[in-house]
Amino acid sequence: MAFDIEMIKKVYANMPARIEAARKTLGRPLTLAEKILYSHLDADMKLTDYPRGSSYVDFNPDRVAMQDATAQMALLQFMQAGRPAVAVPSSVHCDHLIQAKAGAATDLDRAKHESEEVFDFLASVSNKYGIGFWKPGAGIIHQIVLENYAFPGGMMIGTDSHTVNAGGLGMIAIGVGGADACDVMAGLPWELKMPKLIGIKLTGKLNGWASAKDVILKVAGILTVKGGTDKVVEYFGEGAISLSCTGKGTICNMGAEIGATTSTFGYDESMSRYLAATGRADVAALADGIKEHLTGDAEVYDNPSKYFDEVIEINLSELEPYVNGPFTPDLATPISQLKAAAEKNGWPLKIEAGLIGSCTNSSYEDISRAVSLAKQVSAKGLKSKAEFMINPGSEQIRYTIERDGFLDVFAQVGATVFTNACGPCIGMWDRVGAEKQEKNTIIHSFNRNFAKRADGNPNTYAFVASPEIVAAMAIAGDLSFNPLTDTLTNDKGEQVKLDEPTGYELPPKGFAVEDAGYQAPAADGSKVQVLVNPTSKRLQLLDPFAAWTGVDFKGLKLLIKAKGKCTTDHISMAGPWLKFRGHLDNISNNMLIGAVNAFNDKTDNIKNQLTGAYEGVPVVQRQYKAQNIGSIVVGDENYGEGSSREHAAMEPRHLGVKVVLVKSFARIHETNLKKQGMLGITFANNADYDKIKEDDVIDVLGLTTFTPGQQLTIVLNHADGTKEEFKVNHSYNAQQIEWFKAGGALNIIRASVKA
Ligand code: SF4
Repeated sequence: MAFDIEMIKKVYANMPARIEAARKTLGRPLTLAEKILYSHLDADMKLTDYPRGSSYVDFNPDRVAMQDATAQMALLQFMQAGRPAVAVPSSVHCDHLIQAKAGAATDLDRAKHESEEVFDFLASVSNKYGIGFWKPGAGIIHQIVLENYAFPGGMMIGTDSHTVNAGGLGMIAIGVGGADACDVMAGLPWELKMPKLIGIKLTGKLNGWASAKDVILKVAGILTVKGGTDKVVEYFGEGAISLSCTGKGTICNMGAEIGATTSTFGYDESMSRYLAATGRADVAALADGIKEHLTGDAEVYDNPSKYFDEVIEINLSELEPYVNGPFTPDLATPISQLKAAAEKNGWPLKIEAGLIGSCTNSSYEDISRAVSLAKQVSAKGLKSKAEFMINPGSEQIRYTIERDGFLDVFAQVGATVFTNACGPCIGMWDRVGAEKQEKNTIIHSFNRNFAKRADGNPNTYAFVASPEIVAAMAIAGDLSFNPLTDTLTNDKGEQVKLDEPTGYELPPKGFAVEDAGYQAPAADGSKVQVLVNPTSKRLQLLDPFAAWTGVDFKGLKLLIKAKGKCTTDHISMAGPWLKFRGHLDNISNNMLIGAVNAFNDKTDNIKNQLTGAYEGVPVVQRQYKAQNIGSIVVGDENYGEGSSREHAAMEPRHLGVKVVLVKSFARIHETNLKKQGMLGITFANNADYDKIKEDDVIDVLGLTTFTPGQQLTIVLNHADGTKEEFKVNHSYNAQQIEWFKAGGALNIIRASVKA
């Protein structure tokens, strides 16, 4: 795509000098992650050795990718910025809203009908603002990004946690919330906590049944679901070079399951081959031109413990296939110990279904290796005991594997081929009988296996493995089967052993596709109309939030004094509410319904100061809003932790809450509140939390001289006529104070675009 090649040329033109400058300033050789991070520093940031794990740094990502569910609010907000087009190349992918049931032929049409207005909105908004649009059925965001957009040395953000998949092509690619995507598309820098670095040295070479998936399944066992938090994992060594590019993608993809900020690999020939095979020989040629800058410095890899915060070594030659689960992706069991573990823990042994594919594992290599197992079913006189289900990652993959006869082989074992979309991987699986909640086992090549994730049944024991192990286990239908050592009984009563999987790194006849499902944006989007039905329940255009009126807040009603944990889930619940994430007014009906009222320990039950009645939080707040009465939310420690969802800041803003006063904030939520023009403040003395009474009317003084580092004053007007006063802190810098005054960051951007 011409748009991208020009962008990549620009990135590569600047990279060598920036890396050299960083090397000089830091006074040491650099890891690959550092090279990419420091060459994407925002121009306003000083070049210095930012302490890892504690400093916050602004970066300029090269690209933004969004999936359909999270893109809605990101784009509705972006429309507020008033820009004619996105500031960086961006794409939208329709993959999360397609339910898997009977197979692609009927499922896709049904989904298109059910989510028509969302897809139409995303298509038209993409068309208008210069965003590449991938239609429903085109494929899963991360597979499409790998096939089309990822490039070595680039930096990308995406509104999905598995954005990290693009590390397989040597990127720093990070999952973010919609507000961050909106900022970057609007031309603002993006802030990240400078990550710590884990180096994973891979030696040896994969053989037999072991695959790239087993590397990350083993790493997940070592580091657990939290071990990668605020860290970038960088793989290196001869073993890393020996892996295919898509195998590297699988490893990076599941880095999300250890909580890693992202994972990455240095540029090598496997990436060059993959770029060429996916029609990007020009990108490979550019990368070859600066290849020494697209991998870590030799001194780093020769002496990793000196430069990484943590080093792990894995010998691929000795790696055993792993099966991880149930219910968590870091419960790693080598296949040789699976039988004993299953029997000891009482995991149901009968496997009901084997699911192959998803963004994690649907490369040509993955599918060809799984097919080499499926072929043995008829060749060896076997019958597959479990159901096979296939989720191709993209139409290009689906078309190519159909052309090469792989889908026929799957058909012979009775496989159902679902739409090129997330389907069962995100719980969009209308599985027959799931509602009976029977205890059962499935095995899949996806990445997550938390309870209810695939089919909504809390009693489904889901195990994660490579596609070839999934195929073998589905054929055997038995969790205690070890394909490396065990035999199966065929239709003649003979004991037969499955041969080791074989496959191709890339399609020998090349990739092919008739209609990849891509819609390029209009060259001039100014006349394009964004399609939103005014009566829609799922989508609603946003109006700009009002600017601050220039006077102190007086007479705010206490809405709720929340007690204990109040995560973004408590503030804006997920589950059934997710369908409203493109409709701010409708989703606001979940505002704070999970928060515990400190005065009665109940959720969604607060005193309405207008009537004295106890009602739901959104119900009360809507009455305050109707009478133009501002309100204040009071919270405890680490308010707003959890997912970065911007709805948790937008809903209170939309419903007329003016202030959130807490003991402490989770940082991302605090920033989100500031971006939306809210006043987020903290108690200078945490004991003042106890002074707040249920019927309080509250003033915030000092706003007319709102200055960085200067405290504000809270006045509590108690119902008995007494008053109490105390100081509160804020962390607004000069720019953020401007956001507050303007009524939100987007109002400032819009004004600057107009100017
Ligand atoms: S396939 Fe699964 S992991 Fe990948 S983007 Fe879809 S839901 Fe997320």
